[in-house]
Parts: sequence; structure tokens; C-alpha cells
Amino acid sequence: MYQVVIAAGAAPLLSFDELLAADATPSSAGWLRPNLIWLQGASCSGCSTSFLNVEQITILDFLTYFSRVLYHPNLSTATGDQVPRILTKVAVSDKPYILIMEGAIPVGMPHACMMADRPIGEWVKGLAAKASVCIAAGTCAASGGVAKMAGTLTGVASLDDFLRQRGIKTPVVNLPACPMHPEHLVYTLLHFIKSKRLPELDDARRPRQFFTHSVHERCPRYPAFQARDFALRIGEEGCLLELGCQGPVTYNDCVAIGYNGNTNNCVRAGHPCIGCAGELFPRPRLYHTHDDPKAKTGVVVKKS
Ligand code: SF4
Ligand code: SF4
Repeated sequence: MYQVVIAAGAAPLLSFDELLAADATPSSAGWLRPNLIWLQGASCSGCSTSFLNVEQITILDFLTYFSRVLYHPNLSTATGDQVPRILTKVAVSDKPYILIMEGAIPVGMPHACMMADRPIGEWVKGLAAKASVCIAAGTCAASGGVAKMAGTLTGVASLDDFLRQRGIKTPVVNLPACPMHPEHLVYTLLHFIKSKRLPELDDARRPRQFFTHSVHERCPRYPAFQARDFALRIGEEGCLLELGCQGPVTYNDCVAIGYNGNTNNCVRAGHPCIGCAGELFPRPRLYHTHDDPKAKTGVVVKKS
């Protein structure tokens, strides 16, 4: 089994460059490439798509040199009866693996997500218990996401809640955002591969270095916020708070690293943050912070 250590205190941060150093590939260093099993529950596959867009390393290099994908619903060629055979074989073997869960688990309507005639929850339960670490990829897996909105009937659970309720103690890492940022997942996996430790996690089991700062703190529109210069329509200059921006109550480094090779992110592009990395995402009124008093503390809006 891989030994998992969750870094505590002020563990030194490893940069992507260090993690990708030439001598760091498992094959050159004589390490085992970690086995990955990726499952999808109540999800849209957006986090899988996002994963393929990782920029710090090509996805092909990551999958070829740094890891070994035993099963992924979209990437694997295995279909039909092959899939349960692979997963059952892994579950009863001593082969160590990392379980990545995309999407929430529909415990209230188990037949909403079936794989090989079994509810996805049964697969998660069996595979998570023996995994070295479980990673919740995206907001749906981390906190329920879209499938947990009021009015949905599937009664979903996040990965962490699902495992806790079943007494499964495998360490969980939460990587919220809709979709999950690919660098967050690949960094976490590379950190584990290189150091045999998880990066330092916060109370919500998120890697600290990605989720310590709010979107608001790093927003290029922050000077406009300070000047109480608020946009009242999409497309206007100024802070987007009056348009429902959830940047003040959402923690994610998306402003700093952007998506698609740092091409852009929501607030940089002029769109209010909809809090995709927050536990309450999606709110009943997507573009609204007015139900959260923290968001507007000390803000006096001057309408023109
Ligand atoms: S409220 Fe939104 S747009 Fe305004 S500064 Fe904060 S994050 Fe940026
Ligand atoms: S700005 Fe908000 S909605 Fe957009 S990616 Fe960042 S956390 Fe998600």
C-alpha cells in the first residue's frame, strides 16, 4: 500500500517545476506509477474534460509517465463486462490505487447512477475502503453541487459525507470548482507521487495553497470595489458586486491561474463569480449574494 501522510503545519510548498523535474518521473526514479481509478456519479463529465486540459504537463505525459489509469469512464477502452471485471479484480487484489470520484453519489435514488447493474454507491464503497487516498474532483463530488439543488430527487451525498456515514476512513481530498481546475488535481497527484504526502489541507480538506484566498482578494476589480464603483450592467467597468458577484464568499485561486492556460476567468472576463467553488453552489439564485450578509459587509452602494 502507498503510505499517505497528510502534511501538517507549514510544510514547504513544492512547485510544479519541482514536481516535474526530469528526475522526478516514477520510471526514472524507480518508483511505482500510482494506479488511478476514476468513477463518475451524478455529474456532467465536465471535470474529466477539464482534466484533459491540464497545461503544466501534457495529459499524455501525465498518463504515460506519472500514472497508470486502471479505469476511467471516458478514457478507458474497457467497456461492458470488462469494466466490472477490472474493478472487481482491483478490489480483491493488493494493488494500491488512488480513487478519483467525479460527481455526487445518489444515495436517495441509488438506481439514478448504475454501473454494471450496481448502483455507483456500491462501487464507491467497495473501492474507497481499499484506496490509498480518495479525491473528490469538482464541486459535485466535494459538496453535492448541481445534483444537490433544492427540488432534485436523487438525495445525493458528497464523497466525504458518503464515506464518513459508512465508517470508511480513507483520507479524502476535496477539489471543488465547476469544473475542477485541472492543475489542482494534477498538482495533488504529482505531490503525492513525488513526496508520498498529500499537500497541506484546510478544514474542508482542500489543499491550502489553492483555496486560502477569496476570489475577491485577488480580483483585478478590487480597486473599483474599494472605490465603491459598481457596475450595474454586465459589460460595464467596475466591481460586479451589485450584479451578484460571490467573489467575497468564494475561495479559489482561479483569478490567479485562470482556466485554459490562464486565458481568463469569470471576473477577469467581466462576469460575476457564481461561487462555483463554494459549498452552497449552486445557489437558488445563481447571481445573488444578497442572501449572504457577509458578502456585503461594509459595502455602501452608490447608484448613479
Ligand atoms: S465583488 Fe466580485 S467583481 Fe467586485 S472586487 Fe470582489 S470579486 Fe471582484
Ligand atoms: S470566479 Fe467564481 S465562478 Fe468563476 S471559476 Fe472562480 S470561483 Fe468559480
